[in-house]
Amino acid sequence: MDDFSFEELKNINRKKLSNSVPLELYRAIRLIGMYQGLPMHGKSTTATIGRKIGESLPVNSINEALKLFESLNIGVPTIVDEKENEVIVQVDDCFCKGLPHKEGHLVCDLEGAILEGAFTKILDKRVRAKETKCNVNGDSCCEYQVKM
Ligand SMILES: [Zn+2]
Repeated sequence: MDDFSFEELKNINRKKLSNSVPLELYRAIRLIGMYQGLPMHGKSTTATIGRKIGESLPVNSINEALKLFESLNIGVPTIVDEKENEVIVQVDDCFCKGLPHKEGHLVCDLEGAILEGAFTKILDKRVRAKETKCNVNGDSCCEYQVKM
């Protein structure tokens, strides 16, 4: 079977229902299905899924990747610190915002892996995103340390 491209996913032809599904469904897939439902909170699975999605995004620059991340309503990402081989990406209004705090739980690893996959494709080198803050953990935002 030929793979689906991200562009093909935009072909939506639903009569009664719109092109969106509720955030609680996304959260159910991410948190009940994956975080709670998979061994080790889905660690390697979320990394694989996120990277695959990130690599499929039709973006050619870091800025475009961040813009698309926001237009997909995942969250509002901002680069808050930039060093030679590392950027810190802060995400406001993350999909997890408003969930009850559960200290010690950082739940937005897949979303970081999406950035990782997109950056990897754009920069054509190995990139690693690590989730360092999460609203669910009680932090003021979600944040990723991205090494490249
Ligand atoms: Zn989050």
